[in-house]
Order: sequence, then C-alpha cells, then structure tokens
Amino acid sequence: MHQNGFTTTILHSDRQQSVEHGAVHKPMHPSSEFAYDDARELAAVFQGKAGFTYARQGTPTTTALEAKVNHMEGGKGTVSFATGMAALSAIFTTLLRRGDHLVSSQFVFGNTNSLLGTLLELGVEITFVDATDAAQVRAAIQPNTRMVFTETIANPGTQVADLAVIGEICREKNLVYVVDNTLTSPWMFRPSGVGASLVMNSLSKYIGGHGNALGGAVTDTGLYDWSGYGNIYEAYRKGPSTGWGLTQIKKKGLRDMGGTLAAEPAHRIAVGAETLALRMAKHCANALALARFLESHPGVAKVHYPGLAGHPQHARAAALFGARFGGLLGVELADGVDCFDFLNRLRIVLMATHLGDTRSLALPAAHTIYYEMGAERRKQMGIADSLIRVSVGIEDEADLLFDFDQALTGCLKG
Ligand SMILES: *Cc1c(COP(=O)(O)O)cnc(C)c1O
Repeated sequence: MHQNGFTTTILHSDRQQSVEHGAVHKPMHPSSEFAYDDARELAAVFQGKAGFTYARQGTPTTTALEAKVNHMEGGKGTVSFATGMAALSAIFTTLLRRGDHLVSSQFVFGNTNSLLGTLLELGVEITFVDATDAAQVRAAIQPNTRMVFTETIANPGTQVADLAVIGEICREKNLVYVVDNTLTSPWMFRPSGVGASLVMNSLSKYIGGHGNALGGAVTDTGLYDWSGYGNIYEAYRKGPSTGWGLTQIKKKGLRDMGGTLAAEPAHRIAVGAETLALRMAKHCANALALARFLESHPGVAKVHYPGLAGHPQHARAAALFGARFGGLLGVELADGVDCFDFLNRLRIVLMATHLGDTRSLALPAAHTIYYEMGAERRKQMGIADSLIRVSVGIEDEADLLFDFDQALTGCLKG
C-alpha cells in the first residue's frame, strides 16, 4: 500500500479533524473556555472523553499542532507546552520524586543543566555521564535509577550520544528513556527507532523554524509500559498502561503547573512545521559546506560538526541520522583571532542567541549561554573560551562562506 511521505503527511494532518467552514488552513482558536449544549457532555469531557474544557489543558489549535508533531515522531500521543523548557520541566518534575535517580548526559543545553540543578535541590539524585559512551550509562545505573536522559547532538560541542545502545540498556533495565530531539528534529531522526520512551522537541527551534514563536512538545512513543512505574498516581492508571506516563505529564504539567502553549504561537509553529523538511535539508547542506570550508581556514583551530570525517562520532551520526548532520557548528578560532573581533566583523550572520532560525546566528558560547555555570563545568562540557556557536541558516551558501571568510581574513590581517 502507498504511504505518504513526511511533508505530505504533515501538510494534511490537520484535515483529519473537522476543519470549520471548509477552511483549507486550520483556523486559530484563542477561546479560553469551551461550552456544551448538554451538561452531560461537559461532564463526560471532564471525565476523560476527548474534547476541550479550559484552554490551560489545550485547544483545537494546540491539538492540531500536536497531531503534526505526533505524525513527525510516529508517536502514540503528543502534548505541547509553552516552551521546550516547560516540556522538560514537566517530564522531570511529574515523573521523578525525591530519592529517585536520573542518569543524564553531561553534554546538555545550558538551561537544562540549570534545571537539573534544581532537581538536585529537590532531592532527585543525578549522575552525569559522557553519553557518547553507553558503557558509562550502564555503569551509572543504581537500584533507584528510573530514567536516562540525553540529547541527540549536543550543543555546542556536537557530541553524538550512543543513542541506540543506550536504548538497549534502558529496555533491558526497564528504565524510562527520554531523548531531547531538538537539534536533529524528527526529520533527521525518530528516537522511537532506538527505543526512546519519551521524546522532547523544542518547537521554538527547527520545527517552528522562523524565530517568531516559542513552544515545546513531549511525544510518547508507546514503547514504555508504565504499569510497573511507581510514580504514576492512581487517577492516571486507567486505559492501556503505555499511555499513563503522558496522561500524568499532561494533567500535572499543563493543568496543575500551567506551562500551556497559547493558540497564537501554536498556530505559527504549525505553519512553520509544514516546511520543516525543506528548511532542514538546506540547514544541513549549508552547515556541511561551511564546516568543510572553515576546517581548512587559517583563522580556525577546530570545527565541531558531526558531518566532518574527523568528528569522533561521524560514523554513528551518519548511521543514525541518515547521513544528515544538522545545522549547528562549534567553531574554535585560531590563536590570535579574538572571538569578539571576529563576531563584530560578520555582516550577514547575526550575533544572537537561539538556533534553528532561517537566518544564520552566532554567539561566543563561553561568554554568553555557558557563562553562568563557570569555568570548571565549561571544561567538563568541552566548551573552549574561543568557541563560537553557529546556527547555520538557509541563506545562499556562497554568501555565508563569503561572510565567514571576510570576517576571519579581516581578523588575521589585524
Ligand atoms: C532550545 C533548547 C531547549 C529549550 O527550548 P525552549 O523552547 O527555548 O525553551 C531544550 N533543549 C535543547 C537541546 C535546546 O536547544
């Protein structure tokens, strides 16, 4: 039987629900509350029937976006959040309790690192490991370990976790396996294929893609059986046990904690998501061309990019991500090239945080997003003082190469 491809499926997924007035594009629903003609129907929705009550728990607009993300991930269910951090907070705080143990990659997004610090204060034990080496994950497992967390490609060092072997370990030990798929996006990689239980995507990045809306999503792959997971409240132990975890994340994370995605950003993200495949292909192609160009440039000491043959996990990335390597580069400048001088000379590339925008963005990582954590933790995470993080956009390739060349050459000439 014919199966539609990635983009066809995403484009048409919101028509699987009724679309009002035959509108080709799903309308936006900013209503805070939803009324019913029959009070019994209202009660039924409160008691678990599909439908809407109060927008803190979702709207037709967030539901349409969730359907798109769920299709992308091949998941069993997806819940959206106000930001990627709200999605991660919901996973960790609703599923872990004081005395539980989490094994986490040591190469994580800076704000995730800070969030994990909060969890430590709340009494969750955490062991940080080099997740490029699955043996370290295995060695860190304790009797009270409940969950393993890793990103796919780490930012900004571009380390690629040993995702498949970690998945095997989690299955063998019956641990919840959480994968942050933000840097790869479901176009490059589906974590369900390596046994992930839950997948987090920051929708603010590649999926939304246009730097005009924040959002996050948690997708349940349906691979984890929550019946043996002690932290699920009695009220959520209903229906198939593979769905209990997501129910708890939604009830606690959205209804109780209120990290809800509003209709307007959800709508913008849903529109952006339609071109994920097109944009991502260009991000990847530009990033590979730029990485190869910079690798041999006298103004550059080292380029971190999984698409380069010399990258320590190049072969793994090629196998896992279908020979596509993402849009993020870490660039260490040569001695004598000042990172601020270099950045100030760029003309097209914008000096800004964020990644996954259509425009190319660059920042001095140690002095900005990784400043708060201090020198020692930066060293542990492999973040050099001269490291520039580049989020490669979808500009014309020759213009990007020209801009980097003129800025580096300008620095070398002094
Ligand atoms: C940006 C990012 C997040 C957080 O997402 P927001 O939507 O900005 O809150 C989490 N993980 C990774 C890998 C990210 O790059």
